[in-house]
Amino acid sequence: MRLSKNFTLKELIKSDTAVRKGINNNPNEDHIESLERLCTNILQPVRDHFGKVVSVSSGFRSGELCIAIGSSLNSQHADGQAADFEIFGVSNREVADWIVDNLNFDQCILEYHKPEEPNSGWVHCSYKNDEENRREYLRAFRDANGRTVYQKEYSKTTGPSKEDINNSLMEG
Ligand SMILES: [Zn+2]
Repeated sequence: MRLSKNFTLKELIKSDTAVRKGINNNPNEDHIESLERLCTNILQPVRDHFGKVVSVSSGFRSGELCIAIGSSLNSQHADGQAADFEIFGVSNREVADWIVDNLNFDQCILEYHKPEEPNSGWVHCSYKNDEENRREYLRAFRDANGRTVYQKEYSKTTGPSKEDINNSLMEG
């Protein structure tokens, strides 16, 4: 089943862990509708803009799969509203910034990306609907204790400069 021109349901529900552990990762109709919206509004425009294959490492996750991989049951992956992906040969930062600057999205997270390694980490992006999308841009990284921290991120193109951000912190 095709969700948009270049994306199939199969690649949005594929999970090696589910296969290995015999976990049912089949979406219901609501999940499929959400995945379709995600493909139409986020993944397909990214594919069309960069003109390269968008490699999806994780899309829909059933409750059982969430538990198996230690992902939260509240994760938007469990609703079919989010996907993790990257484009080989394009910096994940560039992909995330482009989404933030050009698309209507709910949450875009630059996950474990190291600026000095353009291909490190991956992009997580979710889509609810035009009205409810939060347009929230975050960066996830590990602190000194190995805990994951989420920080507000800004697009290099349209966001405030580093100086603006530092000044606002000083004033606040
Ligand atoms: Zn994710």
